[in-house]
Amino acid sequence: MKGLMMDVPLLIPSLISHAARCHAEVEICSATVEGPMHRYNWGACYARVQRLAGALESLGVEPGDRVATLAWNGYRHLELYYGVPGMGAVCHTINPRLFKEQIAYIINHAADRFIFVDLTFVSLLEEMLDEIGGVEGFIILTDEDHMPETTLRNTLCYETLLAAETPDFTWPDLDERTASALCYTSGTTGNPKGTLYSHRSTVLHSLGILIASFALNGNDVVLPVVPMFHVQSWGIPHAAPLVGAKLVFNGPHFDGETLQKLFAEEQVTVSLGVPTIWLGLLDYLRSSGKRVDSLRMLISGGAAPPLSMIEAYETDYGVPINHGWGMTETSPVAAAGINPRRLAGLDAEARIKEKLKQGQALYGVEMKIVDDDGNRLAHDGKASGELHVRGPWVTSGYFEDEAATADAFDAEGWFRTGDVVAIEPDHHIVITDRSKDLIKSGGEWISSIDLENTAMGHPDVAEAAAISMPHPKWGERPLLVVVARDGAEPTKDDVIDYLRDKIVSWWLPDDVVFASEIPHTATGKISKLTLRETYKDYVLPTAE
Ligand code: AMP
Repeated sequence: MKGLMMDVPLLIPSLISHAARCHAEVEICSATVEGPMHRYNWGACYARVQRLAGALESLGVEPGDRVATLAWNGYRHLELYYGVPGMGAVCHTINPRLFKEQIAYIINHAADRFIFVDLTFVSLLEEMLDEIGGVEGFIILTDEDHMPETTLRNTLCYETLLAAETPDFTWPDLDERTASALCYTSGTTGNPKGTLYSHRSTVLHSLGILIASFALNGNDVVLPVVPMFHVQSWGIPHAAPLVGAKLVFNGPHFDGETLQKLFAEEQVTVSLGVPTIWLGLLDYLRSSGKRVDSLRMLISGGAAPPLSMIEAYETDYGVPINHGWGMTETSPVAAAGINPRRLAGLDAEARIKEKLKQGQALYGVEMKIVDDDGNRLAHDGKASGELHVRGPWVTSGYFEDEAATADAFDAEGWFRTGDVVAIEPDHHIVITDRSKDLIKSGGEWISSIDLENTAMGHPDVAEAAAISMPHPKWGERPLLVVVARDGAEPTKDDVIDYLRDKIVSWWLPDDVVFASEIPHTATGKISKLTLRETYKDYVLPTAE
């Protein structure tokens, strides 16, 4: 027997129309590429979202079409987060930190019809214009006064486009499983893979993070430093309107001074970012003597934070750290925060240690760990194995990528995360290792395999292996271990110079060391485990 409740679909416009009804006067302020701070509120935002949806229709955008963004965090990007999926299209957020070739690849793979681009990234697109011939037009996210001279074809001004529309768009009646957004993430090798979110997964994820320890409320002023071009800014743009939190966007600047100033001026209560951001802010606070007293919590995720960082914020600045875990493929938040039950009564040292854990599974996300043969392991906090997850905001396959999809799921259909984890009996998780061959530097991925394969193109290099090394600022940085060809004596500079024009600069290894051989596993693969053991006491010159 079916229940007799209304079958109202969970659609993204419902999030912002709710904010326009209940929290219309709550402010959204954005540092802009053009310079001045922009301020409006959820009510005005909704009106512009409706104009944008109308503008997309006028441009001929059809349901299911991909419309891309290449932009910093800001109010216009927020409007695209709602207007594009709201009218039935798919909002493809492009990560400008990918290689130029990868950006061209994902634009073509997604078959983006239009790209909405911040002034900052116009020249980046100009450089690849010949490779992205399928894009019909470029909409510059600015007003007429700031429109640049550009070689991009069919350019339009965002503000002019919106001015021609009216704020009374009627949202189409979509199936809640309709695709809403697309975000590509780096694989261990080769081209990035697309995670395709739906209206339903996005609405459920928003609710999910609001009942976790990320809980925001109507008194909060939230500054998501985590970019809107990477993993949907951890869901904040979709969750904030539900509770009527004020949003603050930091635009193109991420440094400690900018953040401290914004925190103080806007009285920010919650901010989210990767550890590299919080380490940068900490440096600034220490050198300037300034404080962050308006904050009630900092949320750190995307990479493991050092204990000393949690300690400094909690004891020196009185700001609790809330640590979370997730992936592009899990929308992203899947585990967040230590349950307050556990923290009650702990002294400062014990509390800080608990916070090194990646958090408790959210309602909606089921977790298991398995050994190399796929057998489930105990959730006793001791056994560690690859973490597999499932839930309504976990991917069920990569966008038009059968090969990547085939590898990504186990026999029961759970998503294989590539993280090696111990699960405690109450589903707090601790990451102990990573089975995927990637290096996470400042929250962004470096493919060890692509790096070592590129290095092996050097005529004097017989074999090369890249491993991740701890780094106080970036979390991890690459060390390249090289075996020279017989008779050749390449230097560190030779290898780095060779790589320089073949990879993006932040992928360059922080050091190159030479070895007589590289260890291999029984199946002939480079044994990263043995290499990491060999270099466990090595310290990168950049980390000293
Ligand atoms: P991405 O899809 O780029 O967001 O990367 C997701 C991956 O980042 C995860 O699979 C982990 O390897 C890593 N990661 C995310 N959060 C954490 C965390 N709190 N601690 C350690 N690693 C993390």
